[in-house]
Amino acid sequence: MSNQVSNVNLAGIGMTSQRTRERLIGRLIEQGIGDWSVLDVMRSTPRHIFLEEALAHKAYEDVSLPIGYNQTISQPYIVAKMTEAVLKNHPALEQGKLGNVLEVGTGCGYQTAIIAPLARKVYSVERIKPLLEKARKNIRLLGLNNVQFKHDDGSLGWKEKGPFDAIIAAAAPQQVPPELLAQLAENGRLIIPVGGDDVQELRLITRTGDEFKTEIVAAVRFVPLLVGQIQN
Ligand code: SAH
Repeated sequence: MSNQVSNVNLAGIGMTSQRTRERLIGRLIEQGIGDWSVLDVMRSTPRHIFLEEALAHKAYEDVSLPIGYNQTISQPYIVAKMTEAVLKNHPALEQGKLGNVLEVGTGCGYQTAIIAPLARKVYSVERIKPLLEKARKNIRLLGLNNVQFKHDDGSLGWKEKGPFDAIIAAAAPQQVPPELLAQLAENGRLIIPVGGDDVQELRLITRTGDEFKTEIVAAVRFVPLLVGQIQN
């Protein structure tokens, strides 16, 4: 219910107003985010609608926040960094957009909302059903109609919809799932946190033929990538 109240207010007021959002964009620029297409989408995407009303006033702080079910909405800087990393000089870009993108770990759908305007088609997989339903609602509310969701174990990817120009994983496995590598298109990029509970490496993996080049982008802390799906 509380979500519904804040949902109605896409424009926001006070701590969720456009002015507060501009301050966040300023911070992202200061921290080195330089891709204007990413910054523009982040500027025009209301992050407060993804949160419970009691947390909405923190929506434009550069922090991750709880969304229930022991999960979090990612920190804006990390979302910007991951989106920029998969987009930057990608050979598949057409009019600033990627083709097929896979997201693993939809959560509340914030990252989905940031990548959707920058891709022709987004496929997003989440293992917790109620979160997937929330994300679906949020994405519909924003008028984004190029996203398809699936309730499943995303570590297996979504083979029938691949290959993908980019795969964005928002949960950390101990090892990169081979299925995700196999579903990358030529020149495709996988951005994924890898490691244990405390600290992980954010890796950017680029495919050329059967070769995979890995770059370490940052030290991060994501929720773990878990196996299997759950109903509620
Ligand atoms: N993308 C979100 C962040 C979600 S947090 C955002 O923009 O804020 C990571 C999500 O990954 C959680 O919702 C968790 O349930 C999900 N997850 C963990 N393991 C998964 C798996 N194997 N398959 C699909 N989703 C998974």
